[in-house]
Amino acid sequence: ITKIMASKFLLTFAICRLIVAVGLTLNPTDLPRLGIDGRLTVDPSHIEEVSGDFGGMHRAEPLAVLHPATASDVARLVRAAYESADGFAVSARGHGHSINGQSQTSNGVVIDMSGGGGSRGLRLKPAGPRVFEKERYVDVWGGELWIDVLRHTLEYGLAPKSWTDYLYLSVGGTLSNAGISGQAFNHGPQIGNVHEVDVVTGKGDLMTCSEEQNEELFHAVLGGLGQFGIITRARIALEPAPKMVRWIRVLYSNFSEFTHDQEFLISLQGKPVSEKFDYVEGFVIVDEGLINNWRSSFFSPSNPVKISSLGGANGGVLYCLEIVKNYDESSAGTLDEEVEALMQKLKFIPASVFKTDVPYVDFLDRVHTAELKLRSKGLWDVPHPWLNLFVPKSRIAEFDKGVFKGILGKKTSGPILIYPMNKNKWDERSSAVTPDEEVFYLVALLRSALDTDDETQTLEYLSNQNRQILRFCNEAGINLKQYLPHYTTKSEWMDHFGPDKWALFQQRKLEFDPKRILATGQRIFSPSF
Ligand code: FAD
Repeated sequence: ITKIMASKFLLTFAICRLIVAVGLTLNPTDLPRLGIDGRLTVDPSHIEEVSGDFGGMHRAEPLAVLHPATASDVARLVRAAYESADGFAVSARGHGHSINGQSQTSNGVVIDMSGGGGSRGLRLKPAGPRVFEKERYVDVWGGELWIDVLRHTLEYGLAPKSWTDYLYLSVGGTLSNAGISGQAFNHGPQIGNVHEVDVVTGKGDLMTCSEEQNEELFHAVLGGLGQFGIITRARIALEPAPKMVRWIRVLYSNFSEFTHDQEFLISLQGKPVSEKFDYVEGFVIVDEGLINNWRSSFFSPSNPVKISSLGGANGGVLYCLEIVKNYDESSAGTLDEEVEALMQKLKFIPASVFKTDVPYVDFLDRVHTAELKLRSKGLWDVPHPWLNLFVPKSRIAEFDKGVFKGILGKKTSGPILIYPMNKNKWDERSSAVTPDEEVFYLVALLRSALDTDDETQTLEYLSNQNRQILRFCNEAGINLKQYLPHYTTKSEWMDHFGPDKWALFQQRKLEFDPKRILATGQRIFSPSF
């Protein structure tokens, strides 16, 4: 009884504080009428948990945190925010792996979609994924982590087709951006592999959307940076899961040969599976000796690689092509032959082939292995001034010269990914933004700032360098687009979207979140209150 009374008190207190703090005109007796099945709390430890993010550079304390038990809880809260005369902001938080405070708000409520209150028995998110074997799709809660989606679908021998490199991200969080990895050239981004979503709009309406139903909202939320609604359920396409992968890395000292080969490999997108790789990525090696690159553990200590020994004289930079071929019992027999046929067409440094065979799950979950290592050294929870760019193919050589061989000056402070994608795999109707060319590259500078005497590793230095890179591209007229964009002014957002898409984005905002209360941490629109 004491426990029940205490929790009722907490809820009432949370609501009252919310009302007082945002000056709601709702009567306090109205809010319990919301009938939330989950928990609305102002417990400082819960507030603390959702106030920061992976970037570690921005903090904002919300007035309260909602741990929803159902999609209706999400709808009830958003409707209360929408209908109150003064309003308050509502930000969905997936796993808080944004860089620049995108899931934060200081004048409203954060909805903890991924059930972060687990440690205190508050893991209230709805039931786990539901696999439809015959139809080959899975229905998942918007706050579900991709690692859990994978675990569930594997029980049926199935798996999603398109991934991110790291799986401890929420479905709603990656679908609000795009969700890309080395499968994107073949299957498109994650937003291209969703059949249907349930969305709570900024008016508090819970709507099911697909190509056939509420089509405008469907396309709006995919890549929509959380601006049009909160995804509470997604129906994700599945394929038979392979058991194993052959994972190969080869090195290049010549950038144009490297990009030529990457572009060749992604041009095979329409070919039968036996004639292409299943995954194509790559990364840049600037630091001497491959140290400092938490994704490079694959190069085992028994295989020490020194840039100097492999002709990295060309500006001291090497490029690593990373390719994967999926297989299982039925295809293992032809694997060597198929891989060899493809490798023969590539121009990598012959002495630089690194191969390993690992279970499919281990490959997909590879970054988590690196995470655990970094955590054990206290190097995971540090500021991350990341910069993710989509660079058009026609300008990638200039980018290489100006940035990898120029501005970076042999120090990267983290991995730099580089891989191309085909625009024809991206649905133009979604809210995601890509450059105006058929092939474009992701360049991801995944940097960690350290508190050291080496000034080239500090947050200030790396942030300045990011600005320098953007300035260089701007002055050179390289029409790139930021992925996981971060801007602070309206004119920057307008430039980012371009005139047509910006007009559409605004129109959709007016329709689905007219009071501009959702995902204010993206800093695209100011709320109306
Ligand atoms: P959050 O940071 O919690 O939220 C991001 C935005 O989405 C916020 O604006 C939030 O309000 C909104 N949002 C969250 N949930 C919902 C929802 N249910 N409905 C509507 N809006 C919502 N990205 C890739 O594409 N490929 C990668 O390989 C990749 N690797 C990564 C590796 C690491 C280590 C990290 C930290 C990030 C990586 N990312 C990658 C970026 C990642 O996809 C985005 O940062 C993503 O937003 C993180 O998901 P999250 O659940 O943590 O979202």
